[in-house]
Amino acid sequence: MGHYHHTKEKKDPGVRKRLKVAFVLNFSFTIIEFIGGVYTNSMAIISDAIHDLGDTVAIGSALWLEKVATKKRDSKYTYGYKRFSTLGALLTSLILLVGSVIIIYEAIPRLIAPQPVLAMGMMWLAVLGIVFNGIAVLRLRGGNASLNNRAVMLHLMEDVFGWFAILIGSIIIKLTGWYWIDPILSLVVAAYILFNVFKNLRSILRVFLQSVPDNFDASKLESELLAINGVTEVHDIHTWTMDGNYHVLSLHLVVEHHSTIEQLIQIRSIANAKVKDFGIHHPTIALEFENEKCDICE
Ligand SMILES: [Zn+2]
Ligand SMILES: [Zn+2]
Ligand SMILES: [Zn+2]
Repeated sequence: MGHYHHTKEKKDPGVRKRLKVAFVLNFSFTIIEFIGGVYTNSMAIISDAIHDLGDTVAIGSALWLEKVATKKRDSKYTYGYKRFSTLGALLTSLILLVGSVIIIYEAIPRLIAPQPVLAMGMMWLAVLGIVFNGIAVLRLRGGNASLNNRAVMLHLMEDVFGWFAILIGSIIIKLTGWYWIDPILSLVVAAYILFNVFKNLRSILRVFLQSVPDNFDASKLESELLAINGVTEVHDIHTWTMDGNYHVLSLHLVVEHHSTIEQLIQIRSIANAKVKDFGIHHPTIALEFENEKCDICE
């Protein structure tokens, strides 16, 4: 009763299966792209291969680390293994960061001295990319519309637009022989990758640096707790998130000096429920009495 950390979240067993299918498809397509990129001598295709390598690692680490992340807490990791999933996101971001630097390093000399590419091969790979990513988007549309699912779908749609850009670029190269379009396209892909990397790194670092969870309003919580009958003061509110979804909080609740045990139990129960309404999964509330000196906070 009132111990939220004892409740378990139900998981959709179909998610792992869908992730496994996505991993195999993405991995195969990444290999096709790398071979196709070398064959057509196209930096744009190789850039997209690096992008898809990032997607593959993201799905793979999600599969592996999510399994670790659901492990029960133990004496070594008292909060459980949830933050390991954030570690997977960090790994993906670092791979993409290195990949983008390689793309830029390779593409700039080609801007100065353009190299011939096989425009027809690029065109076929782009068509394959549009079909492949398009099917993935349609598959996800059938699934449940969770926030994460929506984010993945948006990402896949952006990937489709990327392939359209390469398709149009390869047609122009075919018609005009302007080979400099290829390194330009690869720099656009690198910019797109870097934009997403920095966006993700920002939220990853917020987790690791113990920032307050998104949309958490401490002053609103404080006033709601003060409204509980018998509570005279709230202080030392600390809150952080394990992985962006599972939030932890601790606070001190000062209660009237003459409170009975029954009143204390009721106050704590109401306070726990209120904190839970603020999206906190693991609250720890310390009760203190009026005129009692709190030696934890300054
Ligand atoms: Zn407990
Ligand atoms: Zn992608
Ligand atoms: Zn205190």
